Amino acid sequence: MVKLLTMKKYFIKTFGCQANKADSERIARLYQKRGYQLAKSIREADVVIINTCSVRESAENRVYGLIRNLTRRLSAQTGYTLNAERPKVVLAGCMLRYGVTTLKKKLPQVDEFLRVEDYSFDLPPIRTEKTHAWVPIMEGCNNFCTYCVVPYARGREKSRSFDEIICEVKKLAKQGYQEITLLGQNVNSYGKDLKPRKKFSDLLREIHKIRGIEKISFITSNPWDLTEDIVQSIKLSKIDKHLHLPVQSGDDKILKEMNRKYTAKKYLSLINQIRKEIPEIKMSTDIIVGFPGETKEAFENTVKLCKKVGFDKAYIAKYSPRPGTAAYRFKDDVSPQEKKRRWRVLEELINNDNTI
Ligand code: SF4
Repeated sequence: MVKLLTMKKYFIKTFGCQANKADSERIARLYQKRGYQLAKSIREADVVIINTCSVRESAENRVYGLIRNLTRRLSAQTGYTLNAERPKVVLAGCMLRYGVTTLKKKLPQVDEFLRVEDYSFDLPPIRTEKTHAWVPIMEGCNNFCTYCVVPYARGREKSRSFDEIICEVKKLAKQGYQEITLLGQNVNSYGKDLKPRKKFSDLLREIHKIRGIEKISFITSNPWDLTEDIVQSIKLSKIDKHLHLPVQSGDDKILKEMNRKYTAKKYLSLINQIRKEIPEIKMSTDIIVGFPGETKEAFENTVKLCKKVGFDKAYIAKYSPRPGTAAYRFKDDVSPQEKKRRWRVLEELINNDNTI
C-alpha cells in the first residue's frame, strides 16, 4: 500500500508528570508549525516524539524499551507500512539532562533532540482537553532534594509573568474552559524570582476573579513554601479543596538526608493548621520508601505520621538512585524485597478505599 497523504504526521508519547503533559501540548504546536499533522496512532506517524521522564529508573527503562520497539519493528519492515522507512525518533524532556553527546552514544537511533527552548512558553499549546486546561506558571526548582533530578533536568526556578498567566486564563475562559490546573515543580514558590516580586496567593486571587473559570487546582506544593496567605486563598470558593503536599518521609533523619526543609513535627503542625482553616480539605502526598539509611524504625516513623495525617491518597515510590543527584553517592542499602514490603504497607494503609 502506498501512502496517500502527503502531509507528514507526528505522534507524541508522553511519560511522567503533568508538567510533561503540558510541554507536549506545546511540542504539538511546534510540529504543527513545522508542517506536520497529528497521527491517529504511533503506527502511522512519520515522526515519533518521546517526551521523557527521568524521575525514576523505571521511567527511563520504558523510554529505552519504546525506542527499541519502534526501531526494531520498523527496521524489520513487518508492520504497518510497505517499504517503510522507520519514523524519525525525537527525544525531549527530562532525560536530556544527560546531555546530547552522552545520549547520542547511548541511543544512536534517536534522530533529533528537542531542548526546552524549542518548546518555550511562547508557543501556544494545542490542548487535548475541552473544558480543563493545564497552565504552567513556572519551571524548574531551586531546592535540590538529594534524590531528585528536577533541578538538573529543568533548571532553576523561573516564573512566568503574572500578566501573561492572567491573560492566558482569561483567553481560556472565553474559549469555554471551566477548570484550570496551575503547574510548577514548586508551584507555591511562584513569583519569588520576579521583579517586582509576586505572590502565589495573589495569583490565585486574581484568577479567582475571572468569570467562566469555575475550578482552580494547583500542583505541586512544598510544605516549606505553604504560607498562611496561601492557606487563606485556598478558602476561596473556586479553589479546589484538595491539597497535594509531598512529605516523602516521616523520619527527621531521613528528611535531613533528603534535604527536605522540615521535620515530621513541623509537617504535622502545618496539616493541623490547614485542617483548622479548611476542615473539608482532602490531602494527598508523595512518599519514598527505602531511601538510603532508612532503618525499620525510620520507616515506622513514616507509618506513624501517615496514621496521624490520614491522607486520602499517596503516591508511593520505591527509592531508586538517580545518576547525577547527591543521593546517588549514598549507599542504596535497603534491599528490593524490603522496599517492596514497605511500599505494600503504605499502599494498604493509605490507598485502600481512598475516595479521591
Ligand atoms: S522540591 Fe520537588 S522538584 Fe524540587 S528538588 Fe525537591 S522533589 Fe525535586
